[in-house]
Amino acid sequence: MDGMAYAINNEIHLSARYIASYSGDVKREVAGVLYNEEFFEELLGKTVDEAWRDYKAKLIAMISKLTVLSLCSMLAILASMSSGALAVDYRATNTAPTTPGGTRFDNEIGTEYSIQTLQSAAQFIWQTFGQTTEADRKSVQSVNLFVDDIDGVAYADNNEIHVSVRYIASYSGDVRIEITGVLYHESTHIWQWNGNGQAPGGLIEGIADFVRLRAGLAPSHWVKPGVGDRWDQGYDVTAWFLDYLDSLKNGFVAELNEKMRTGYSDDFFVQLLGKTVDQVWAEYKAKYSTK
Ligand SMILES: [Zn+2]
Repeated sequence: MDGMAYAINNEIHLSARYIASYSGDVKREVAGVLYNEEFFEELLGKTVDEAWRDYKAKLIAMISKLTVLSLCSMLAILASMSSGALAVDYRATNTAPTTPGGTRFDNEIGTEYSIQTLQSAAQFIWQTFGQTTEADRKSVQSVNLFVDDIDGVAYADNNEIHVSVRYIASYSGDVRIEITGVLYHESTHIWQWNGNGQAPGGLIEGIADFVRLRAGLAPSHWVKPGVGDRWDQGYDVTAWFLDYLDSLKNGFVAELNEKMRTGYSDDFFVQLLGKTVDQVWAEYKAKYSTK
């Protein structure tokens, strides 16, 4: 062949004509040809310098990719660790399954639905209170629901919610929707701040019913907006008043709850609204008396 040499498909072709025509140490020359950097170009389509640069660049890219990957996996591990450590455990137990209300609970509500409701209620409460991070929320490890053979409707105490099977038995209407509303109210007691025990009971109950109202779970037996003698009468009366104040100042209830983290004062209303609670109550009553 013509030329000196070429490389293709793992073959090196040396020109016998070149060897014949070479004057000098042909063995040394052929050795040089075999080590010729041009073979890199022929074999790789690039010079050895280019190949070296590409190799270095690839190495750097690989190292940074590995760093990003390990950072990501580290963050993922940290996130799963922290969520694992702070995840709330929700449980439900029917302690009176043989009673009429206990049987109705199993047939029309059930523990599985109740656990889902405790979870969705917590999410809704955190959202209503503007608590976007775990640090904003009350530290609660578990929420336990018990369906018991007790009087009354329900109560919350010590991260436990107790619902009465007698109430479930006597309720006429969609008992599943009613108990969903009850669970939103009682769950609020678990997650709300109570001013270190100093807040008026009527305000605590009003905030719990405000959450129930905002969840679209206000029952038909509630009083109408504007009804009531005192702002802290509690339950539906105070819930409608808080709903009015929240319409005047969006996020009012969330801010009020946040202030109640460490204590309570009626002055919180002045700080948030620029008016005393008695003043805004009078304005609220006046608004509905003209109708
Ligand atoms: Zn309550």
